[in-house]
Amino acid sequence: AVQHASDYVNTVFQKIEERNPGEIEFHQAAKHIFSALIPVFAKNPKYIKNGVLERISEPERFITFRVPWVDDNGNVQVNRGFRVQFNSSIGPYKGGTRFHPTVNASIIKFLGFEQIFKNALTGQPIGGGKGGADFNPKGKSNNEIMRFCQSYMTELANYIGPNVDIPAGDIGVGAREIGFMFGQYKRMRGTYEPGVLTGKDVRFGGSLVRPEATGYGLIYFVDDMMQDHGLHLKGSKVVVSGAGNVAIYAMEKAMELGAKVIACSDSTGYIYDEKGIHIETIKRLKLDEDGVISTYIDIHPHASFHQNGEEIWTVPCDIALPCATQNEIDADAARVLIKNGIKVVAEGANMPSNQEAIDLFNESHILFGPAKAANAGGVAVSALEMAQNSMKLSWPFEKVDAKLHEIMLNIYRNSVSAAEEYGHPGNLDVGANIAGFLKVGDAMIREGVV
Ligand code: GLU
Repeated sequence: AVQHASDYVNTVFQKIEERNPGEIEFHQAAKHIFSALIPVFAKNPKYIKNGVLERISEPERFITFRVPWVDDNGNVQVNRGFRVQFNSSIGPYKGGTRFHPTVNASIIKFLGFEQIFKNALTGQPIGGGKGGADFNPKGKSNNEIMRFCQSYMTELANYIGPNVDIPAGDIGVGAREIGFMFGQYKRMRGTYEPGVLTGKDVRFGGSLVRPEATGYGLIYFVDDMMQDHGLHLKGSKVVVSGAGNVAIYAMEKAMELGAKVIACSDSTGYIYDEKGIHIETIKRLKLDEDGVISTYIDIHPHASFHQNGEEIWTVPCDIALPCATQNEIDADAARVLIKNGIKVVAEGANMPSNQEAIDLFNESHILFGPAKAANAGGVAVSALEMAQNSMKLSWPFEKVDAKLHEIMLNIYRNSVSAAEEYGHPGNLDVGANIAGFLKVGDAMIREGVV
């Protein structure tokens, strides 16, 4: 049965490579998830019979579109916009929007594919989607950002809605961009539908805790996982890559729970502060001023700045939290972390560790929190934002925070038990993929061949 299941998985994977030539990140994510699912197909041939794997890995809809806009010099610029509506078996498509020059079909599909399983894991009724554009927001004026968001939404509005597809933010897209997109959508529709986007400002339908949710959720997950293994966040040394929304609130919550964060990074390099990163400085530099992280040492001269950001993983620590972008931890980085005595790796970004790195962590019995479990707090609170919007009310901070914590604990427990049930005890990566898949796969069978 295992041989049959693994042959099936290989056949479907080959089709993915043929249908999506050159899309290496999508292939990487698919291959990784598929291999975790072999024990499921070996035990339950119904998924093979119903073609679930082949259906789930072909997007229900994939949209690319032109995004023309006029820059501050009066020149016309053109970018490419994307939205993948990957799977709607357990709810409307849901997932973020990434504005970054590296965005292409492969990046959007890998993120959208991951999102299917992540969203299912949250226990909330949301399907999988993702979108974005190869637009570089760095150095753009507020007006340029606004015009770009309006143009992006002018086309996207044809395909989304509060019960159809609900975009949110991701790299390069925060509350400001969501506000501009919401304004444009509202103007086009002529009705007030806040549930069409999440990550909105709290003044017009945003949820409290949404800005903090991914980072806080990551730390709740790490805390639950460590306690389960008799370890403690308190007194641990933490290194965080990134200095965006995810990294900042992960650092804030880790410190609140007694950990010491000694390094973080942005695209220009990393800073090391043995006294512990001053989070208010990072917030001001990165959230308010859109500045560069090297400025930190002007304010805290005892800290040091290092130009090569990738070398952040050479800083010895107990807990590593990759919160920047995909494939930031390769085998070499993993080896250095392991040599330096790392105890916990938990992923705030999507697919930050490549396959070799994950294999090394598993072999060395490092506690590993995979992205689709550990960073699911963001989209989970997005689902809570949708719920509040449809009820036309807003919950207090404490209530949303308590729900987030409960969701993260459930994700942890479900991943642990799925791993155990399918013969990989302690492997949360395999467990998270299986638990997410089972919910979606069963829904797809019950909804028929669609
Ligand atoms: N971009 C986030 C993620 O990767 C959040 C998506 C959302 O809130 O819809 O899960």
